[in-house]
Amino acid sequence: MRIQAATDPGTPDRPNEDHYLIDPAVGVVVLADGATARTDTGCAHGTAWYARALTEALAARAAAAGGPERLRFALLDAIEDTAAAHPGCDLAHPGTPSATVAALAPYSESAVEVLVLGDATVIVATETDTRAHTQSVDHIGQSERDAACALPIGDPAREDLLVAMKQVMHARRNTDGGYWVAAADPGAAYRAYSRIVPVLGLRQVLLLSDGAAALSEVYGATDAAGLLALALAEGPGAIIKQVRAIEEGDPDARQYPRTKGSDDATAVLVDYTSEEPGDATV
Ligand SMILES: [Zn+2]
Repeated sequence: MRIQAATDPGTPDRPNEDHYLIDPAVGVVVLADGATARTDTGCAHGTAWYARALTEALAARAAAAGGPERLRFALLDAIEDTAAAHPGCDLAHPGTPSATVAALAPYSESAVEVLVLGDATVIVATETDTRAHTQSVDHIGQSERDAACALPIGDPAREDLLVAMKQVMHARRNTDGGYWVAAADPGAAYRAYSRIVPVLGLRQVLLLSDGAAALSEVYGATDAAGLLALALAEGPGAIIKQVRAIEEGDPDARQYPRTKGSDDATAVLVDYTSEEPGDATV
């Protein structure tokens, strides 16, 4: 098994709010993508801190856990661990830091488990098919998002509309009929997508934050199989490089309407067909 990873902040002068952790000895990979704060959060630590703390907690819980559906319960515990790590903050605040999650861990001697919460993506390739798993949130605050994205980056009205979008999203976050992400409520773990995959016939798993999955999801440059082929041929960083090239060619987001010029982007490729050891390339 060979593991390669790449990450890149969307804005050079802002902290990367994507965070990933690889535990090659156990075969655990965790990726968390902190949601951009556009309002108050009630938290003194910030989104990048939250994404890192959640990633570390989930990797530790996933490596220690056992039994059926263990990633879901590891995530539940990790959300609790992360909440407990900042008791002085207002965790009931509607803008409390949150993150989408993609994770991979061994399930048994003969199977692995993948998990997705929110609009992170996990692509699983077996000998018979290649499938992408994600939980889209684009329908939440859609009219505000569409109105914002109709304006070019730099238009002052755009930021107001994005704040309005965020307020709609906060009101529906972790509610029935809304959408679910990791924040302060451990119950969100029950809404994660989880799949057990037999190791026999498993070829690759590719974990992506939405900033990297944008190459297919937003820019339509390829599909799940194409993302995987690119990562296999040139490394996961090649996905991010192509994303950035498209974004640089459309700096005001007119050709490809989107909320950010460039989003933090992370890709982790786990290749079960390779005998080479893991590495972590940024
Ligand atoms: Zn805090």
